[in-house]
Amino acid sequence: MAKISINLQKGTVEKEKTKGEVIVGIDLGTTNSLVAYINTEGFPVTVKDSDGKNALVPSVIWFNGEQTVVGTAAKDKLIEEPHNTIFSVKRLMGKSYNDIRDYQGFFSYTVIDNDTDERLVKVRVGDKFYNPIELSSKILFELKLRAEAALGMEIQKAVITVPAYFNDAQRQATRDAGRLAGLDVLRIVNEPTAASLAYGIGLNKDEVKTIAVFDLGGGTFDISILRIDNGIFEVLSTHGDTFLGGDDFDRAIMQYWMTQNVIDPQLLQENRALAQDLRLRAEAAKKTLSFQDTYTDKLNNYTLKLSRNEFDVLAEPLVQRTLDSCAAAMRDARIPLEDIDEVVMVGGSTRIPLVKESVDKFFGRAVDDSINPDEVVALGAAVQADILAGNQKDILLLDVTPLSLGIETVGGLMDVIIPRNSKIPIKAGRQYTTSVDGQIKLKVAAYQGERDLVADNRKLGEFVLKGIPPMPAGLPKIEIHFLLNADGILKVRAKELRSGVEQTVEMRSPYGIPEEEMGKMLLESIQNAKTDMKIRALIEARTEAGQVLQATEKFLKQNVEIFSKEEVEGVLAQAKGLQEAIDGEDKDLIHNCMEALNEYARPLAERAMDKTISEAMKGKMI
Ligand code: ADP
Ligand code: MG
Repeated sequence: MAKISINLQKGTVEKEKTKGEVIVGIDLGTTNSLVAYINTEGFPVTVKDSDGKNALVPSVIWFNGEQTVVGTAAKDKLIEEPHNTIFSVKRLMGKSYNDIRDYQGFFSYTVIDNDTDERLVKVRVGDKFYNPIELSSKILFELKLRAEAALGMEIQKAVITVPAYFNDAQRQATRDAGRLAGLDVLRIVNEPTAASLAYGIGLNKDEVKTIAVFDLGGGTFDISILRIDNGIFEVLSTHGDTFLGGDDFDRAIMQYWMTQNVIDPQLLQENRALAQDLRLRAEAAKKTLSFQDTYTDKLNNYTLKLSRNEFDVLAEPLVQRTLDSCAAAMRDARIPLEDIDEVVMVGGSTRIPLVKESVDKFFGRAVDDSINPDEVVALGAAVQADILAGNQKDILLLDVTPLSLGIETVGGLMDVIIPRNSKIPIKAGRQYTTSVDGQIKLKVAAYQGERDLVADNRKLGEFVLKGIPPMPAGLPKIEIHFLLNADGILKVRAKELRSGVEQTVEMRSPYGIPEEEMGKMLLESIQNAKTDMKIRALIEARTEAGQVLQATEKFLKQNVEIFSKEEVEGVLAQAKGLQEAIDGEDKDLIHNCMEALNEYARPLAERAMDKTISEAMKGKMI
């Protein structure tokens, strides 16, 4: 085990040569992005701007005609040119128009529906259209240039971080953005995993620790419970809400000012520049209140005021939502609060005093915020890059999948193949068979979610396994195999084992799960657990009874000559009763009718069997 100590005090700004190839770590944030690398002394450092002070590059793009400007200069254009200045692109990654419809008003630029391109949104600037991948690539390209200038060498490889809750489509979009920026993206890493690496926790052998990473940034919130054991990082659970961040605190302040009649909401509707300006003042107020008790400023003729107490009241419900997530993550990790050894704070919004105090209180200990919460993820990404470069060989990283993955089975039921919170990468498989005679193809549809019915979950994709040789129902052995790689990309393989026909499909969901829905899905799965179980039992009973009816029909046809008319009528009457039960809603009645039919048919079946055997014997003798 390589023992490295990490000094995170200060990075050097001068051009610095590192030996050999450098893989950079990139934190592609909703609000701010930055890039870091490991210097010659083995310390992670962030790339600072030309005056050597600031590492944060606002994730804002200003379109000056065809030319683009990224960063602080672009952020300054938010007020002047709201239509040409794009912020919060990360919120659009892997999204459809439906996903963002409800908060469309949040953007001061034009987000449009795009039916042609996998239903992903596009942004209109002038008469040109850009998708979120293209926009993100502009930010990544700027970071690449900065790193190249700082290091005096070409940078080709990178590790990019994403929120733990990003789904496959969003991760893939991030990877594509990297490629478009001319970067070979070696790994997509969860932000909390990177943060824990930056703290160097667990990089020393023999260290066993359980930590909570609390990350409240500009647009997303993540809580992760990690176990670190002898250099192995394992994510025990993750929870969060990618619709909760500093932006929401800003909006709460704006709304407060509006309800206080400081500014006329109608005016803001008409004057977007004013609205944007007010948004920036709200953010300034929030930041000021992190170290002062009051904020006062003027905007045109309006006086804007806010006290710490007033802000705390506005912030409280948002903070409460983060704590609810913490509780959920602790439940999923199945460990008591006392087992948490450290609580790591990540993201600019963790500077809000109420956030810090509330998290302290929740975990019953002082939180760890010694590393700049804005930089900690990028620094950790650099450490991860160093591990991938082979410089820290013995460290392993394990992550978990936030939602269960499975396939649709008869009756629209979800059959889970990879349960949620499974460590990834993971391979898992299960055998299935056909339900109809002579079935030569099989639809395989993969879903993500916790509900018992696939209709309540999110479809990731589907394909048809063709070329199964015709066989009686139940005879084909079809193995469905899921491979979830370290980046959370799912490969689904279906193979009919008797004939060897197989097909593999990489699932890239056409567009992402809206984050709100992600949290909602988990909540609903708990709230609806009882109903879901009832429905599942009913569907399963119906499916089984349907098969019994099919078998009965076949059995009657094959043996019609050895049964009396009354016997056939008796079976048909039982079958009719069963059919009526199937059409009803009572699973116990279905089971009872099935039982009755079986009871009635058993002696007949025995007779038919005797006949078949004696015929078979006859055949042999000939
Ligand atoms: P992201 O990871 O989403 O890009 P960051 O971690 O850079 O976000 O955090 C950005 C958020 O942090 C913004 O909403 C910003 O207003 C907030 N922030 C930065 N400094 C402070 C502060 N001193 N007090 C409160 N919030 C802050
Ligand atoms: Mg962040």
